This record gives sequence, structure tokens and C-alpha cells, in this order.
Amino acid sequence: MNEEKIVKKQLLKNMLLNLIFFTVIFTIFGSVIFNSLKNYIYKSANEELIMSLDKLSKNYDFPLERKELAPRDIINPRIISILRDINGNIQNINSLGQFYNSYSEFIKYDKTYLNKVYELNINGYYYMGLNSTFENQNGETLYTQLLINIDSEKSILDNYFIVILWGIIITVGLSVLASYILAKETLKPIIESWKSQTEFVQNASHELRTPLTIIKAKQELLLKKPESKIIEQSENITLTLNEVNRLTKLTKDLMALASADMKEQKMIKENINIDDLIREITKPYIEFASIQSKEIILNLNYKNEISIDRSKISELLVILLDNAIKYTEKNDKIEVRTFSKDGKFILEVYDTGIGISDDGIKHIFDRFYREDKARSRETGGSGLGLSIANLIVTLHGGTIKAEHNTPKGTIFKVKLNK
Ligand code: ADP
Repeated sequence: MNEEKIVKKQLLKNMLLNLIFFTVIFTIFGSVIFNSLKNYIYKSANEELIMSLDKLSKNYDFPLERKELAPRDIINPRIISILRDINGNIQNINSLGQFYNSYSEFIKYDKTYLNKVYELNINGYYYMGLNSTFENQNGETLYTQLLINIDSEKSILDNYFIVILWGIIITVGLSVLASYILAKETLKPIIESWKSQTEFVQNASHELRTPLTIIKAKQELLLKKPESKIIEQSENITLTLNEVNRLTKLTKDLMALASADMKEQKMIKENINIDDLIREITKPYIEFASIQSKEIILNLNYKNEISIDRSKISELLVILLDNAIKYTEKNDKIEVRTFSKDGKFILEVYDTGIGISDDGIKHIFDRFYREDKARSRETGGSGLGLSIANLIVTLHGGTIKAEHNTPKGTIFKVKLNK
């Protein structure tokens, strides 16, 4: 649970960082788009102002007494030309029309801001302006202020602004959501392996604790009777040795699994006649089984060589045979089959033993899984054998599965590529 909290916190932190990151990126991106759109939309108004000023400066033949621009200077019907004296007073007020007449004092004007286009607002209407200065025939300094209405451009731009703003909000939202989902998906296997690692350590320490407790108790018991002879305490000593053996096997299994987790398992493959190898490995088991009135039958039909790691495949066989003997009873049969199918090597170990429950079949290859813990303890099992078997098969690029045998017992099926 603690791990989930840490992960959730980290995910939220990531989300916040992503939010800031994406907002900055998309805002920069949006403003670049907006500004180039603005330049594009205002381009023609801008050009019209500049062209008009250009024409005006070439053609100016201004009769001062008329105090207004000559008709031939009204270059473009969109352009409003205002003539101002040195104090900024409008000289051609009568020719400007009623609107400009009424709002003349609201027309922003800065006589020091020359030959540069600027924006202004006259009673809620938007304009672009361009100021310039010249001297008339009498040597008087006069100013022209050219204006062009940009209400339609402005409303197009406002629409674009809203579209870009919503675009940024939606894109940032979707990006943050996508990065959250992706991060969660990426973290899933890490959390899983974290959990299974913790579980593995918990199980391992639990498994180690039991034999250690028994050994400690037995040793303390022996210490309490220092005068007794070894023969008198042989049962306790045997029990202690059994637990030491169990610990040795357990640590060996744990090392095998841990090094596999760290991808330290090295494969030494060689071409081997696998039927011969199986015959060799099963030999002592056949004798051992017959002592327990169990029968091991070999049905080996592969007859070919296969590239495998001899010691690992031997270990796999030992695990399967050990289990087959452990979980069968008097008069049960164990059969080892090999054959070739669809170009693959197949190994099957059948037994007519106690079998595995339906639920057990699903978990049989999980680490530390045991159907009957009490029985497993008796037989020295820790639930790691089949995990190692699975690992060996996986290292060979193959598969292993368990099935129910009929009428009773279990089948282990191993499939390896040639
Ligand atoms: P263990 O060391 O306990 O045998 P394994 O990983 O080899 O551990 O096996 C896990 C569990 O699977 C065993 O505890 C047992 O319950 C079950 N099992 C394995 N092989 C057989 C089998 N041939 N028949 C019935 N049960 C089996």
C-alpha cells in the first residue's frame, strides 16, 4: 500500500510538471502562431497606410489657407487623413466627417511618434495610425496623421485568439492526460515487480525463519544436556541436520531465482541427445521409486540431438521427477515421454499421484506456491522448484504447463525449440 502511495504522489508530481511544461510550450507556440496571423491579417492595412504616406509625401502641394488636404491627396477611400499643426490641433476638421468631428478630442495623437504604425481606439472602433511631418511652403511644420479602420481585421483576429486559446487549453489538457496515462502504463510493470520483489523477500525470510527456529530450539535442548551421549541425542541431531539441508537447498534455490532476476544466468548450450540424458538422469529415480512401490516408465521417442544447457535441463528433469515421486503414492505410475511435434521437442511427465486443484494449476509456477504446506514441509518442499523449472524453460525459449491427468494425477508438458 505504501508503494502505491509513493507512486501516486510521484504521478501527481509528474502531472503538475507536465502541466507547467506543456502550458509554457503551447503558450509560446500559440503566441508565435497568433503573432504571425496578426501580421498577416494587418499586413494589407499596414501597407495601405505606408503607401498612402508615401504618395502623400510625394504629392504634397498643400495650400495653407485652405487648411485641408487637397482632393488629389485623398489617396485611398479607406484612409482618413488628419492634418495637425505644431500644437496638434486638427486643421482639416470639416473634411473629416461627422464621426471624427464629434470624437476629434479622443483621437490619440503623439507627435513624437513618427513613421511607425500604431494601434488606437476611437470610441470603441479600432484603427491603425501612422504619423508624419512635413514643412509647407511657408516653412511651417505640419503633421499628418493617417488612420485606417481595422474593425473587421480585429474581429477576425479576436476569433482566432479564442480558437488558439481553446486550442492551447485542450491540447495542454490532452497532453497532460496522455502523459499521465502513459506514465501509469509504464509504471505498471515496475510496480508489479516491486510488489513481487517485496513479496519474494517476505516469503523468503519466512521460509528461512522456520528451519532456523527449529535448529535454534534443538541446539538449546542439546546444551541443556551436556552430559548426554551423541547416540542419545541422535534424533535431535538428525532433525537439525535435516533443517540445515533444507536451508542449504533453499538458499541455493533463492540464489538461482535472484540471479535470474538480475539476468545473470549464463547458458552453456551444446548439442545433446536428450533421450540419452533423460535415461541417465532417471536411472537412480527408477530404483528409488521401486523401493516405494512406484513405477517409472520411459517412453523416449525424440531420438535426435538438441541444443540445450545440459546442467539446466538436468535440473528441470530432477525437479519434475522429484515432484512426481513426492506427490504420488504406493502403486502409482510415473511416465516420461519425449517426441517431436511441429518441429519442436516435447517432454511430458505423467503421474497418477494426488493431483493438483484447479486453482493450484493456475499458481503452480508462482514462487513459494504450495498446495499443501504441511505435506510440502514433510517432503522438504519450499514451493520454488517449479518456479526454477519455469525459469529454465523460459531461458531455453520454451514453455511449460501443468494439466490434470485422467483419472487422477498431473501432467507437466515442456515444449522447446530445436
Ligand atoms: P515444492 O518444493 O513444494 O514441491 P514446487 O514448486 O516444486 O515446490 O511445487 C509447488 C507445488 O506444486 C507443490 O507444493 C505441490 O503442491 C504442487 N506439485 C508439484 N508437482 C506436483 C505433482 N507432480 N503432483 C501434484 N502436485 C504437485
